[in-house]
Amino acid sequence: MKITRRSLLATSGAAILSSTLPRRGWTETRVELDGGIEILTLSDGNLTLPAEFIFGPMPGDELAAVLARFDMDPSAPLTPPCNITLLRHGDTLALFDAGSGTAFQSSVGALPDALAAAGIDPLDITHVIFTHGHPDHLWGALDDFDEALFADATHMMGRIEFDYWMDDATVESIGAERASFAVGAKRRLEILADDMVLFDDGASVLPGVTALLTPGHTPGHMAFVIGEGAQAVMVLGDAIGNGHIAFARPEWTSGSDQDPEMAAATRGRLFAQITAADMTVIGFHLPGGGIGRVVQGSDGFTFQPEM
Ligand SMILES: [Zn+2]
Repeated sequence: MKITRRSLLATSGAAILSSTLPRRGWTETRVELDGGIEILTLSDGNLTLPAEFIFGPMPGDELAAVLARFDMDPSAPLTPPCNITLLRHGDTLALFDAGSGTAFQSSVGALPDALAAAGIDPLDITHVIFTHGHPDHLWGALDDFDEALFADATHMMGRIEFDYWMDDATVESIGAERASFAVGAKRRLEILADDMVLFDDGASVLPGVTALLTPGHTPGHMAFVIGEGAQAVMVLGDAIGNGHIAFARPEWTSGSDQDPEMAAATRGRLFAQITAADMTVIGFHLPGGGIGRVVQGSDGFTFQPEM
């Protein structure tokens, strides 16, 4: 496995005007696996979330102590990065998640700019593989005219996840805080449904890429394992949803998970699997571009971005 970081801005040429540059706080991280598989992450921008969206159910005193390690204030708004994973293998150019698009928050939706800076046309994308149906992962699949932005791509989603968001009962059961997520997901999935390929736990979604049901954040959330053995890279989506508390206290329930108990159990299983195999991970909301290693310490885990 070869991991490199470089400045995308410095290598994409002077022809790109500064006004069109993606909002990006890090250099591009690129992982090359044996067999010609190349993986990189692109920034869709940063979300802005109230602190209680994640920290609400957590014990205040201990929370403050853990966050102090990260120079974080427990009451300050959170600005998690959004990292889209791009896999290139032969003629395949696959995105894992599609970002937020322009209808969710103003600080996200930069993926089209990031693709342009990398010299990739949306029509070059062959597959869009969703981890789950939340706005920051799904809504960017459509353009401002409600048509598929990646018009030539095969769109793929876990069957449980797709059925959950397509169910008319979900908007009633999901709670007022996320009702707009349900309406927004159903509307977009109805547009994409005819060409959507559904898959189940353990499915090979691409050659060498295996789906892993990781429920809790949403009912049918999927992570993906690319490659095997010491070469393996896990695309986590939001199954491990931040680089601070989710690593330091994976057993704590988080307000950002739809089934917090189930999500905590999933995190426990994932950390065991990742550390046993010493896998590289890619997290949608992890810092430094989202690609890194998991380090087990005496007091929880830490995320070490690849440098
Ligand atoms: Zn997310």
